[in-house]
Amino acid sequence: MAKYVYFFGGGHADGNESMKELLGGKGANLAEMAGHKELKLPVPPGFTITTEVCNYYYAHGRKYPDELKEDVNKSVKRIEELMARKFGDPVNPLLVSVRSGARKSMPGMMETVLNVGLTEKTIPGLIRQSSNERFVYDSYRRLIMMYSDVVMEKAAGIEPEDNMGIRKQLERIMDELKKKKGCKTDVDLTADDLKELCKLFKAKVKQVLKKDFPDSPEEQLWGGIGAVFASWMGKRAVSYRRIEKIPEEWGTAVTVQSMVFGNMGNDCATGVAFSRNPGNGENRFYGEYLVNAQGEDVVAGIRTPAPINEDSKSEHNKELISLEKWHPELYKELFEYKNRLEKHYKDMQDIEFTIEKGKLYMLQCRIGKRNGTAAVKMAVDMVNEKLISKEDAVLRVAPVQLDELLHPVIDPKLELSAAVLAKGLPAGPGGATGQIVFTANDSVEWKKQGKKTILVREETSPEDVEGMRASEAILTARGGMTSHAALVARGWGKCCIVGCGAIHVNYSKKEMKIGDKIFKEGDWITLNGTKGNVYEGKLTMMDAGSENKLLNDFLKMCDSIRKLGVMTNADTPDDAKKARQFGAEGIGLFRTEHMFYGKNSEEPLFRLRKMIISKTEDERKKALAELAPYVKKDIKATIDAMDGLPVVIRLLDPPLHEFVPKEKDKLQHLAKELKISMEELEKRAEALHESNPMMGHRGVRLGVTYPDVTEMQVRAIFEAAAELLKDGKKPYPEIMIPVVCDVAELKHQFEIIKRVYAEVLKKYQIKEIKHMLGTMIEIPRAALLADKLAEVSEFFSFGTNDLTQMTFGFSRDDIGGFLPDYLNKGMLADDPFQTIDQSGVGELMKFAIERGRKTRKDLEVGICGEHGGEARSVEFCHKVGMNYVSCSPFRVPIARLAAAQVVVKEKK
Ligand code: ADP
Ligand code: MG
Ligand code: MG
Repeated sequence: MAKYVYFFGGGHADGNESMKELLGGKGANLAEMAGHKELKLPVPPGFTITTEVCNYYYAHGRKYPDELKEDVNKSVKRIEELMARKFGDPVNPLLVSVRSGARKSMPGMMETVLNVGLTEKTIPGLIRQSSNERFVYDSYRRLIMMYSDVVMEKAAGIEPEDNMGIRKQLERIMDELKKKKGCKTDVDLTADDLKELCKLFKAKVKQVLKKDFPDSPEEQLWGGIGAVFASWMGKRAVSYRRIEKIPEEWGTAVTVQSMVFGNMGNDCATGVAFSRNPGNGENRFYGEYLVNAQGEDVVAGIRTPAPINEDSKSEHNKELISLEKWHPELYKELFEYKNRLEKHYKDMQDIEFTIEKGKLYMLQCRIGKRNGTAAVKMAVDMVNEKLISKEDAVLRVAPVQLDELLHPVIDPKLELSAAVLAKGLPAGPGGATGQIVFTANDSVEWKKQGKKTILVREETSPEDVEGMRASEAILTARGGMTSHAALVARGWGKCCIVGCGAIHVNYSKKEMKIGDKIFKEGDWITLNGTKGNVYEGKLTMMDAGSENKLLNDFLKMCDSIRKLGVMTNADTPDDAKKARQFGAEGIGLFRTEHMFYGKNSEEPLFRLRKMIISKTEDERKKALAELAPYVKKDIKATIDAMDGLPVVIRLLDPPLHEFVPKEKDKLQHLAKELKISMEELEKRAEALHESNPMMGHRGVRLGVTYPDVTEMQVRAIFEAAAELLKDGKKPYPEIMIPVVCDVAELKHQFEIIKRVYAEVLKKYQIKEIKHMLGTMIEIPRAALLADKLAEVSEFFSFGTNDLTQMTFGFSRDDIGGFLPDYLNKGMLADDPFQTIDQSGVGELMKFAIERGRKTRKDLEVGICGEHGGEARSVEFCHKVGMNYVSCSPFRVPIARLAAAQVVVKEKK
């Protein structure tokens, strides 16, 4: 018989941390904290119903396995024994919480109900027990609110109109009462106020949901359990799972746990803490707590929580008394527990605790979410502290998190002179600028229109996730570093500021007020999420610097592990320099045509156009001779910047007609220079037109029809190298032929190259220039004939953009029309232009590498398509035995990390 219920408490636990799949993250960690001999922390007793029951429940029309009822009853008995209280007992009642917990934490997505077991019958008993009527009614109003929301409304599938959900309606009643009684916060409400509130709540529940609030402890308990299971298929949870790619069949577990009370008076509290700062990674205990409150108050941002210690102080809470000052001995105890937990789990811990009448209880622990900066800092620190190995450290940072460290920041010069509009807590790093929107829906809509938005909310709730995702950044008026917005943004590495008390949002007018300034929907603001500053207007963003010592240390660790080389795609000496700072070990793709675009391209472009429009051999020779110095200069500067490192130079590739000018004056200038009439020029330009240029007269095909063009480029390359050699440099060009489909093409081109090489050696009186000759593999036929190509080619470089395009027959420029349908319908798991299609294109690559290396054992193989900087593709490249990946400079760090991770994963 399957075991459906796992007990913990009294220094023992049936489960442990390794059972996350069965007990969910929360249940497994509660068991570990309660039962592991190194921990044995004060955890209120309870039990976890497994995720198997969740799956059973959905597979059997929302029914439980037969044995469950008895198992639960037995476990409740065990809690009763340990707590010396009885569930539903009028004299000495036990209350429990019903908590959800999936394998991976889904902040705020799933439901929890506290204070289950309070009824007309048990209330008097608990009042007598606690001698605290206020506390009991405070707990009761919380129960009514959570239960009616979670069980009676959400789990029942009721979808109320905006702002008409039962929780919102009850909140309004409470706000009114607070106003009437002149209370600033909920702690100012008296016992009588709360008693009245409970009556009003129950009446409202009956009126809105047409049902009495249940007065039976059993009904409450099973209602709670059912609601947690139901929440797994709730709209919000389903949408979150889709974004986070969490499979549905994981299911959720349910934990039922004896209540401990942080709301029994001013000697009680509840809080959340991190064993290290999740915002910057510093090894300092960091957290917040609220006196006389229950757990959900801290996260909800209802009152401003106090800091647990000096290190946790901020602009907002620095006036409040820290836990360390308030109760030094409890702080010490908590500090000791977090040390024990961190040592045990060997990672940063996110902890929930509650203090009941001067006694500390641990209610949750888990590996804490952190942003990229913090992830890198913690990984490096923990290696230095000898807590973890380099291999572990490398796995602690997700490749996309590095993006954050390389993320745009506000141009520091502009920021210096910009006036700070408001300050909040720095919850997500980097800078962002965008237009204000006030609802998650607007954020999604505006994004569809290609607009950049900043989502401004009083506070965010799980309903807002899609909108939070769609905006550049998030700004909230309330909440602390552990609020919903902060948690979610941190997970995504999104720029975010929370608890920005100076802003006053008016949703109905769609505007916000800061001081006496009004900002309307659509107005631009800029955030610095690293500092917590809000600026008016649109400030320019800048690329983050590469001068980050911590990041460099971390990446060096990656370098010591990875086997794959990491090169860069760079077309200018500037790019080349930047890529070297990021750690590139050479240039894997230098596109010669780049010099004909953008800055300083006028002169060379004009010469190129002359060459293209030339008709006679003579005309072309002249044009080429004029063009050669430009090509040589550009190539020389780039090879020089990479001194000693290889530079793979691809010969001219794009379709020629792209370079024919369209402007009249340019055409005239060209005609004059060539001494031909405009008609003649137009005729020649017309002749260059192709109906499918991407498959037209480009790449090696140019070199086949115009060997002079190849000759000019190759001469430029070798002469540049020869001159550098003479200057004592160490040039290392690799010449790469694009768009090849047959070895005959290569033989034809290499013959020219070899002749020119000999001529250059002679001219410069040198013996040798270190170089290699190779081909791109970007046409399926080339992959299929790889063994033949390798007879002459010393290296292969996969041009995966074209290879994907031609293998799928998907035009890269036209996929917008249909690819979204393929993705939405699940017909393709991923966009093959972003991550290598391993089953199709990848197979072709594997085949080509095997065949190529059969002919030439030391064939060098790399990739120069966009995929070379995408983590999953990098892992693939390692697995198929490539020598290197090449990607844009900013993705070089990501590739270095991904290449190290695959090595560690293979070992494990
Ligand atoms: P979430 O996953 O949303 O954090 P939790 O199950 O952790 O939900 O519970 C919500 C809040 O209630 C947390 O602050 C938690 O510490 C608190 N809580 C849960 N169970 C208990 C309990 N038995 N006694 C006191 N507080 C509890
Ligand atoms: Mg929790
Ligand atoms: Mg190509």
